[in-house]
Amino acid sequence: PRAAAAVVESVPARAAESQYPGNLFVVAAPSGAGKSSLVKALLELDTRVFPTVSHTTRAPRGQEKHGREYFFVSQAEFDAMIQGNAFIEWARVHGNCYGTSKKAVEDRIQQGSDVVLEIDFQGAMQIRKVFANAVLIFILPPSLEELRARLERRGEDDPEVIELRMRNASVEMAQAANFDYVIINELFERALFDLKSVVHAQRLRFSAQRRARTETFAALGIAD
Ligand code: GDP
Ligand code: ADP
Ligand code: 5GP
Repeated sequence: PRAAAAVVESVPARAAESQYPGNLFVVAAPSGAGKSSLVKALLELDTRVFPTVSHTTRAPRGQEKHGREYFFVSQAEFDAMIQGNAFIEWARVHGNCYGTSKKAVEDRIQQGSDVVLEIDFQGAMQIRKVFANAVLIFILPPSLEELRARLERRGEDDPEVIELRMRNASVEMAQAANFDYVIINELFERALFDLKSVVHAQRLRFSAQRRARTETFAALGIAD
């Protein structure tokens, strides 16, 4: 028994727990990899995950509505929000500014809900600094040819915008190494299953299970 105790004591502790009960998922990808489609499908299947609506200086696309896809704001309004410390992260992406409201994220994860952010890699790195427990997921396309084909098929961006997004794609994809998980979106249903698996695994973490199943843990005599 003495030897066993010594072994147990030498086991390193788990990573520090988050101060918030909800999980924060950050999904990044080069434009056209399927990030929005995958996150949208996840939200339809899982009512415990919530999106936040970013602010952007980009002009709305055809069907986009203010307050639904984004809050569309002027550069002056965006700058005022930066000055007012309203963003937990913001970045310039493809020539426009995008930012995530601090309050929207904190309120949700404080309540115990999970939040998913669809943001670029620069924003993801800023989130990791503020929330060390954020789960960073990178979506890759199966090939550059397929990425271009999807941007063209989506038909929402002008040819020069597609060129810019393709040029930025390689720089963005090189950042995948800084993420916790990588999902290759070849077959949509497979990629969606992978995304659901990451969310599910996070809910099986010790701290999450102890919070969700307090009575079971107590009955089993598991302290912490
Ligand atoms: P947006 O929200 O209007 O920009 O829509 P998206 O561009 O994200 O996706 C358009 C539609 O295509 C959505 O209804 C997706 O669920 C659907 N979709 C995306 N990828 C696939 C796929 O590989 N297979 C199928 N069957 N549907 C897809
Ligand atoms: P992102 O949000 O990363 O820019 P979207 O979700 O808008 O990308 O997807 C880009 C385009 O590719 C959309 O037209 C979408 O329907 C399509 N798409 C997404 N995933 C797949 C897939 N696995 N196979 C084929 N087309 C896909
Ligand atoms: P789109 O214009 O296609 O909607 O988005 C372009 C890029 O901006 C995508 O890479 C998207 O993830 C990113 N983006 C959207 N919202 C935010 C945000 O709030 N913060 C950051 N940093 N990037 C964002």
